[in-house]
Order: sequence, then structure tokens, then C-alpha cells
Amino acid sequence: MAVLRFQQARETVIAQVSAHVQAVLRALPAETLSLSESLGRVLAEPVHADRDFPPFPRSTRDGFAVRSGDVPADVPALAARLRRIGEARAGEAFGGTVGPMECVEIMTGASVPSGADAVVMVEYTAERDGWVEISRAAAPGLNVVPQGSESRRGDLLLSAGRRIGYAETAMLAAVGKKTVSVYRMPRVAILPTGDEVVEIGTTPGPYQIRNSNSYSLQAQVAGANAIPLPIGIAPDREDRLREMIVEGLRSDLLLLSGGVSMGKFDLVEKVLESLDAEIVFDGVAIQPGKPLVFGRAKGAFFFGLPGNPLSTMVTFELFARPALAILSGEQEVPLVFLRARLARDLRRRPGLTAFLPARLEASSDPVGSPPVVSLIDWKGSGDVAALNRANCYLVVPEEAEELRAGEWVAVLPR
Ligand code: AMP
Ligand code: MG
Repeated sequence: MAVLRFQQARETVIAQVSAHVQAVLRALPAETLSLSESLGRVLAEPVHADRDFPPFPRSTRDGFAVRSGDVPADVPALAARLRRIGEARAGEAFGGTVGPMECVEIMTGASVPSGADAVVMVEYTAERDGWVEISRAAAPGLNVVPQGSESRRGDLLLSAGRRIGYAETAMLAAVGKKTVSVYRMPRVAILPTGDEVVEIGTTPGPYQIRNSNSYSLQAQVAGANAIPLPIGIAPDREDRLREMIVEGLRSDLLLLSGGVSMGKFDLVEKVLESLDAEIVFDGVAIQPGKPLVFGRAKGAFFFGLPGNPLSTMVTFELFARPALAILSGEQEVPLVFLRARLARDLRRRPGLTAFLPARLEASSDPVGSPPVVSLIDWKGSGDVAALNRANCYLVVPEEAEELRAGEWVAVLPR
């Protein structure tokens, strides 16, 4: 049995899947979508600036475009008196040039006319009979964003491999990308196992358990912008389990749940081995989720996730999610924990990196003071109700035996 530590296991998954994407797949298949359809997908093409940004020296204020040398002082008594020679509206240009002791009325988003090098806000001006008194000094560049200072025509703005969120959407729209080339979404087969597991539409017998894992996994896969393909429930019987695993391996990724512990009918690893699977690891020192299997068979990756519902959900988030991100073409998959103050002392046996259901209470002053996190009382990794009273996982480092109230701790939101 190969049991890895948390970090090591995560890095192994990322390295294996990245190598596969680069070596075997080389180029992931792409498709072209309209900009609004592309939200959540991963760019398959680099995006460059089609013009300078801004395309002209842009005024950031309503006011008057001036030659800064004409307006040297802040002293109202010495206010400069400039002749108003016209106006520059957004979307148009003032055709002429601003000469000495002249100014042009200008709107936010309009092009600063030639000759002028600064814009004085309208609040510091008074206009009378075609003359403008300016009571604030203007330095060169005041309230002006120079042409091309944000980016130059031809600059790389977004690399292939970038996930499209709202900021990327704004960038794509700004360069006029009506359609975008994105990677195809990975297809993820979902195969829960267990003789006691029944479909949610049937009335469970007294010792049967409804199949919740298939549904939580479908939700997680869809949330990762991949296509979930539930392929039924496999019994704890080698022949049928093998058939269903073979079917699942036709997808880009197979997620099994259950049947990976030490029980007599935990057959998943045995069946995978009979299919010549390469098992990269079959245990991770985490709680919940220790018996986690990761490997590859018939050209597809698989995870044998432990069957307890919380273990299934947590191991998906920690391991299957980054694997899916890379299969989707994403370049970077950082795992970022929040930091919070622990509400109460916590003692436990060290040895596993723990992800414990917990509740993060936002501070009433979130800018000035940190959130506080408290553990939820839970009855182990089958306790879905406890997870629904939680809104995060408290992350306890492998070696920690005790955490003290008030201490900074890591938190993974859910
Ligand atoms: P296993 O990993 O197969 O030993 O299962 C561990 C626990 O998770 C057992 O109590 C199972 O009944 C439960 N379990 C397994 N599969 C599912 C599932 N698809 N939905 C809900 N609970 C499950
Ligand atoms: Mg089972």
C-alpha cells in the first residue's frame, strides 16, 4: 500500500495529469463559442490587444483640459484665467490644439486634445463669459491616462489556459472577441459502488442507503465546469464491477466511490489491478478520506474515492478538482486557504492532515478584524447533516496535537 502525505499526494496528481496533458494529448480539443457562452471555460487561444489601451489620451474627469504650465499654483488669489476655445465630448475629438492660456471643456472618457497635458476637475473651476478661472495647480499628466499606457496594440493580454471569469470576459469584450476558442469540457464518469446503495427514487429497505455520492459528485463535477456522466450503481461483485469500470474508463476521468477500504467486499482496487491499471497511490494521510486510490487505466485517469459521503466530497475537492482543472486546459491550480481565529481549544491524535466540518463566522468588521472558526459536532465521515451545518473545513496540520483558542488556523471554504 502506498500512503502519501497530503501535499505529496496533491502534487503527484497534478504532476501526473499535467504530464499526460502535455505528452499524450499534446493539444486538447477546442471549440468556438460566443463570448457569453464561454463563461467558466478555459481559453484555448492567446488574446492580444487589437489596438492601444486606451486608444487615445483619456480624461478620467469632467473638467478642463489645460497646459499644466499655465496653471502653476493652488492659491485662489492667483487663479489662472484661461480662454475656453471649445469642448471635447466622449466619443468625439476636439479637432484643434490648445495654445498658451487656452483651455477646452472636457468630459470623462474623452480624448485630451493636443497641446493640453492635464485636466483640472470642474469642481476647481469657474466659467464666466468664455473665460475659465482655475484655482488648483495642474501637474503634467493630471487626470490623463496616456494612450497605450494600459497596453500596447499587439501585447499579450490573456494566455491560453486562463479560466474565463468576469474580468476575462471584460477583457475579451474590450478587444472585440465576439467568439472565443475554448477547450472542450472533460467528460467525467461517476460510478458509486456498494450492495447496500440504492437509487434515490426507490424506497430503501431497512438496511439500504440512498445513493447520495453520485449526486454530490455530479454537483461537484458540474461546478468544476466538466460534464458529469453517472453510469449507475455497481454491486460489490467483481464481474459487474469490472464491466462498469471499463465503461467508465471511456471518459476522460472516472470517479468511483466506495469499495476502497480493507473490507472483504472492497473490490475496486482488485478489479482495477485485473485491468492492468497503474495505481499511483492508494492511501493519503488525511481525515476524512484516507483510503483514496489514484491511477490510470486504458488511457484514462481514475480516482477510487472512499464511500463515506464526507470523504467522497472532501477528496473530490482536494484531488479530483485540480485533476479536472488540468484536464480542462487550465495552467495553474493553486489551493488557497483562508486564515481565521480558532474559537475554542482543540486536541486530537496527530498523524493526519484533517479537514473537519466547521463554521466560519464573518466579523461584523471584515476589513478590520478576522473571521472566527469553530468546529461542528460531527459523528464521522458519514454525517452529511453535520456538513450541512458547516460552511467550511478547518484544516489541521498533520503533526498538530493541539490548537489553541485565538490561534490563526487554515480554513477551506466549501
Ligand atoms: P465503503 O467505502 O464502500 O466501505 O463505504 C463507506 C460508507 O459509505 C458505508 O457506510 C456506505 O454505506 C456509504 N456509502 C457508500 N457509497 C455510498 C453512496 N453512493 N451514497 C451514500 N453513501 C454511500
Ligand atoms: Mg462499500
